[in-house]
Amino acid sequence: MLALELLFILVVVYLLECAVWVPPQATGVRRRLFGGARLLRARQPTARYQRAVLWGQVWPPLFSAIPTERLPFAVTVERLTLIDGRELDRAAAARASAEGTRLRVGRAQLVLCSRRLAGRCAAFLRRWAGADQSARVEAIGELLDARFDLAETRQAFAEHRRRSWALRTIACVQLLLLFAGAYLLIATRWRVYWLPVLAALGALWVLIFVLFAFARRSLAAALRPDWSYLLLVGLSPISALRAHDLLARESISDRHPLTAALALGASSQAIAEPARRFLVDAHLLRHAASETLRTWGATLAERISELVGRHGLDVERLLEPPERETESVIGYCPRCLSQYQSGQWCSELACNETYLLPLDVRVDQTSPVVPG
Ligand SMILES: [Zn+2]
Repeated sequence: MLALELLFILVVVYLLECAVWVPPQATGVRRRLFGGARLLRARQPTARYQRAVLWGQVWPPLFSAIPTERLPFAVTVERLTLIDGRELDRAAAARASAEGTRLRVGRAQLVLCSRRLAGRCAAFLRRWAGADQSARVEAIGELLDARFDLAETRQAFAEHRRRSWALRTIACVQLLLLFAGAYLLIATRWRVYWLPVLAALGALWVLIFVLFAFARRSLAAALRPDWSYLLLVGLSPISALRAHDLLARESISDRHPLTAALALGASSQAIAEPARRFLVDAHLLRHAASETLRTWGATLAERISELVGRHGLDVERLLEPPERETESVIGYCPRCLSQYQSGQWCSELACNETYLLPLDVRVDQTSPVVPG
């Protein structure tokens, strides 16, 4: 009985190792078991908890959940605004720095989904702050080009796969041996073979550690998993099973979530709903009080439309209002598509008081509200 309890604890510890802890705004991208890829929403254990979780594939082939997210700021040639509306000056941007997954800019300290994204944001902000007007235009263009460059993202992901396939393959064998072996040794008469099973598990563990150490060393410093992870993989055989996740986390996490999903092979059908949400959010930014956010919203809407348009999605159809449910409906929420018979705002917490639109108006047809 004690042995079965131990097996249960082993399963629980392993499931925790499959989790990637990210800030709540992150979106995960994961390959599907039978081809393609999907976007995953980060789940918060409770609404107050400042961290959310993404799950990697629990069983072989152990696909990683790659964390991605929107940029945490809006930027134009003249101004910089955090996505929550706080305006920042050039002096603050010039001192932007990244420490792990934290981005420091002015008094703000933002926790992002990966070290790679934090590093890229800090480097961009310093460049933007120190450049003249034409160089700032160029810097913004390059930042967005990199976020939406599908060919380059595919290449970067192929490079990540090349570095981690052996690690992941051995982890699959290790996983099967660990759980099937543990069951056979606990519950059947095969328990006499405990020594060879244990020896094989030990040998695979050492192999994973060596492969991880080499893969980590060959990566550029900005992409290298922290040395503490090396210690973790060396000390815990269960952590070693997810060593490839630690490499995946930094692989393409600075790209737009839709670019990352397409690079992993997502079909246009699989990205249709997430694309609609990103587009709606970009169009809603065009109504923000800050001029920077309004300009940024228009730029993002254009970039996203271009990306998904090239993959067979009709942007206008994507943003079509829902079918009227009853005659008394006066409007709908463009974010969650709920229909309302009265009121001005959507009452869903996640929609954050989104203005309702009449049922014959698409969100991209609304004119930006310019405060008078
Ligand atoms: Zn809503």
